Amino acid sequence: MYYQRTLKNAIECTGVGLHSGRKVVLRLLPAPADTGVVFRRSDLGGAELPASAALVKRVDFATTVGEGDLQVSTVEHLLGSLYGMGVDNAVVELDASEVPIMDGSAASFVYLVREAGTVPQSRTRRYLRIVRPLQVEDRGKWIKVLPSEELRVTYTVDYDHPLIRQQTLTIPVNPATFEDQIAPARTFGFMRDIETLRVKGLTLGGSKDNAVVLDENKVLNDHLRFANEFVRHKILDVLGDLSLCGYMLKAHVIVHKGGHGLHTQMAKLVRSTLAFHPLESSEEAWGPAAGAAQPLA
Ligand SMILES: [Zn+2]
Repeated sequence: MYYQRTLKNAIECTGVGLHSGRKVVLRLLPAPADTGVVFRRSDLGGAELPASAALVKRVDFATTVGEGDLQVSTVEHLLGSLYGMGVDNAVVELDASEVPIMDGSAASFVYLVREAGTVPQSRTRRYLRIVRPLQVEDRGKWIKVLPSEELRVTYTVDYDHPLIRQQTLTIPVNPATFEDQIAPARTFGFMRDIETLRVKGLTLGGSKDNAVVLDENKVLNDHLRFANEFVRHKILDVLGDLSLCGYMLKAHVIVHKGGHGLHTQMAKLVRSTLAFHPLESSEEAWGPAAGAAQPLA
C-alpha cells in the first residue's frame, strides 16, 4: 500500500509577497496523518486555516483562502509543490497574509521539500478516482476532469501575444515530472496590465526577478526557461488550485484557457461529488505510471 507522507524536518525560508511587497518568513512543518495542508499565521497568534476549496475567498491574479479576517493569499504555487511532490500533510507557517513569490515558480518550494525530506506515515493515502466526467465552463473557457489511472494534465493557453499564441501541453504528474517539467516555470505578466494592477494595490512586490514580464512584442527577462514556459506555469497553477479539493486525484484534467476562478470551481465541484467518486488506496503513488519516479526516499 502507498502511505501518506509528511515532511521529515521543519524548514524555513524568507521571501517577498508578490502583491503586498512585504517580507515574509515561511516555515514548512510536519503534520499528523489525515491533516492535509494547514496554514498557520504566526503573526496572528498561530491561528490556523485548512487549505480547502470551501474557503476560497478571491481568485483575481492569485488564489486566496480565508475565513473572516484570517486569510492567506497566493497559495497556488506552494500548494502545487506539496501536491506535485507527494506531500499529503504539512503545516505552512507564515508571519504575513501572503505566501512569498520566490522566483515566481515552484522551484524554491521543491528545494525546501527536498531539503526537509519526506517520510511515510501510518495511514494509507486515499486517491479520489474520477469515474464520472465533470466540467466547469465560463464564456469559452473550460476545465474538465475525466477518468484516468494516473493524474495527467492537458492545458491550452491562448494569448494575443506573438511569443505565446496557442500552447498546449500534456504532462503526467508525479514527483519526477513535477520537479523537472512543471516546477521551474515562472508566473508571467504583461507590462500593459502592470500599471492597472498597481493601482489596485496588486503586484507591488513584482519584478523581473519573480515573473516573466512581456511587453507588446518580447520578453523583458534575459531568457525563458522553456519555450512554452507559459503553459507549463498554468499547469502548476491548476495543480495548486485543484489540490484544494483535499485529495490526490486519479483523473485526466483538461483545461482550455483557465484561471484561478475555473480551477477552484472545479476543486469545489470535485469535493461535492464524493458520494459517487470512490476513495481508494493504491499500491503505488500516482498510479502505475509513477513506478519510475521515486525521488522521495
Ligand atoms: Zn501562478
